[in-house]
Amino acid sequence: MLKVEGITKRYGEIVAVDNLSFTVAKGEIFGLLGENGAGKTTTFRIIMGLLEPDSGKVTLDGKKIDYDLSSKIGFVTEERSLLTKLTVLEQIEFYATLKGMNKKDIQEKLDYWLKYFEIPEYKNRKIKELSKGNQQKIQFISAIIHEPKLLILDEPFTGLDPINVKLIKDAIYSLKEKGCSIIFSSHQMEYIEDFCEKLILLVKGKAILNGSLQEIKESYAKKTILIKGKNIDIAALKKVKGVINVEKIRDELKVSIATKDVASQVFNIVKDADITKYDVIDASLNEIFIAKVGEVHE
Ligand code: ATP
Repeated sequence: MLKVEGITKRYGEIVAVDNLSFTVAKGEIFGLLGENGAGKTTTFRIIMGLLEPDSGKVTLDGKKIDYDLSSKIGFVTEERSLLTKLTVLEQIEFYATLKGMNKKDIQEKLDYWLKYFEIPEYKNRKIKELSKGNQQKIQFISAIIHEPKLLILDEPFTGLDPINVKLIKDAIYSLKEKGCSIIFSSHQMEYIEDFCEKLILLVKGKAILNGSLQEIKESYAKKTILIKGKNIDIAALKKVKGVINVEKIRDELKVSIATKDVASQVFNIVKDADITKYDVIDASLNEIFIAKVGEVHE
């Protein structure tokens, strides 16, 4: 288990990470969210042991992350770290040897992963000759070839088409099954929504949301009602106390309400119209992100 306890990191006047705590269990996928400059990269660097926090500590299975333990971590960071003059094999050998693997294991695992990603022919090609998406796959392979206990993924899907996104997602799920703890960061909320069980939202280095995705969505008061039907009295809907917005998107009405209790009043208005759909849904993570970050900046 990864345990982050009260870490703080300052750069002069700026508090990049402010007394941050969270845990990531074995086999859990954990989302670290935040706008630009919120403190995600600083947090990752502290976890990877590349940066000392001013206070607080990070442990993996009860041990401080030092040089030895860093071989149990894999990462895909925003600053891509491929050595582009090397071939794929040389590149992977370089990283995997640092992580303590022997040449035979490296060969076997590399062949497996290149086949998995349908690029076995690139094994002896130079990294710089590969497309951006294929470089991304090599970056991913170098992060997981040693089967890490902890995997840090910062925007791992950048530049990948949907087929390759699926291949990487499936590979992440199989690592999860083997008990790997995974921290995932992305500005694309739909990835976080279908991937992460727990998450933190950072604003100015502080966690302003922390919990399971489901709890966070359920406890966020605002809901949306999706209605399809004919002869709906939109003007009457707009007058209901607690209706924040009514929007028509193609043949569907999207009604934003302040709390879920408002849904019954809205239903009273539309029930006699010719309705084919009436769905009350939680706010999307995207809406929650924008609202929560906005509140802090107000
Ligand atoms: P992004 O999504 O844009 O990558 P981030 O969430 O990763 O952002 P960080 O890179 O951790 O954010 O930065 C957090 C804060 O710390 C920012 O205000 C940034 O300007 C500041 N910061 C980061 N690194 C340094 C540094 N080496 N020196 C001074 N300030 C820094």
